[in-house]
Amino acid sequence: MRTWVEVDTAALTENVRAFRHLVGSTLLAPTVKSNGYGHGLLLAARAFLAGGADWLCVDALDEARTLRAAGIAAPIYVFGYVPLDELAEAASLDLRLVVYNRETIDRLAALGAQVRVHLKVETGNHRQGLPPAEVLALADHLRRSPGIVLEGLSSHFANIEDTTDHTYARHQLACFEAAVAALQAAGHAVPMRHLSNTAATLLWPDQRFEMVRLGIGAYGIWPSKETRIAALLTGRAEMPLRPALTWKTRVAQVKSVPEGAFVGYGCTYMTTHPTRLAILPVGYADGFDRGLSNLAHVLIRGRRAPVRGRICMNITMVDVTDIPDAALEDEVVLLGGQGSERLTADQIGDWAQTISYEVLARIGGHLPRVEVPGSAAPHPGAAARAWRPPRAD
Ligand SMILES: *Cc1c(COP(=O)(O)O)cnc(C)c1O
Repeated sequence: MRTWVEVDTAALTENVRAFRHLVGSTLLAPTVKSNGYGHGLLLAARAFLAGGADWLCVDALDEARTLRAAGIAAPIYVFGYVPLDELAEAASLDLRLVVYNRETIDRLAALGAQVRVHLKVETGNHRQGLPPAEVLALADHLRRSPGIVLEGLSSHFANIEDTTDHTYARHQLACFEAAVAALQAAGHAVPMRHLSNTAATLLWPDQRFEMVRLGIGAYGIWPSKETRIAALLTGRAEMPLRPALTWKTRVAQVKSVPEGAFVGYGCTYMTTHPTRLAILPVGYADGFDRGLSNLAHVLIRGRRAPVRGRICMNITMVDVTDIPDAALEDEVVLLGGQGSERLTADQIGDWAQTISYEVLARIGGHLPRVEVPGSAAPHPGAAARAWRPPRAD
């Protein structure tokens, strides 16, 4: 293999076990959207189910289809839009769908099958969903639609991992609870309520309702520094999360260039001394963001090698002057650990002016995902300390 992704599936399984310990009997629904946050859809799904996940969440029908084709029978919740002409397939795969349009409900009802749906209430994120009054009207419409069963009510936080000030998130929570109460007052049973992502699951033990939709945390990564700080401010120990993904490539060539030589497109880097470069067969088409040009480091022989010049579509140049034994076909770590060094998704996100989520989700789906149980180094500071949930705030 030339460029590939290794996934420590045992770490994924243990992360879900740690969340199980945290949430007790609340249903755990890890999301495997975006190719399992880059880890591989099926690898992630199977590892999570082995850890005791109750449901799986996906964004789109094609992800759910792949899970079902692989024999996964667990409940699947599709929280992204399903086009009207794909609803028949969604029903045949026994998927739970989020709905917020009458057109979707009417199309589902016309199928004559039983379909369980979840309404999405707008609580302040202003992406998918309906304001509470319209949710109520849609629930009434749904009650008159044969075969369509209202199973749950959901919403999504706008501002929980981006700040340690959770005033806005608490406002959203209050809106959500009001919407539930309004539905119940109108005679609608709401068997499942779910609002929590990873950050809310970690920070708000009393607001998990019937189910939590875990994402980044199941992959062993804290949603943000702010979430980690908010958890630490409660004075409790850290949750033992283990990242699972190592992104690797190989040295394709080692070459010497003189002082004063330009490297790469645009001549953005000039060597300041005689330099040894390693050429890597990976580039922005693989998800190695061009914004990392002249910024990121990679790991070779357990040491950091800085990226020189612009990252190309399929090729990256790194400086190995200070790694004299670097050689053809050496394993190179782009993300993850090697020896005692580690490049985290958060660090790469900082370099590329984005977040860990985007770094992971954009690792090319064409790159092979290899299951390597037990390969990921323990996360620094993640010794098996007891985690107790923070007090409700
Ligand atoms: C992605 C997503 C989640 C998971 O979010 P994390 O921050 O990764 O835990 C939960 N719910 C919805 C609707 C999502 O789109």
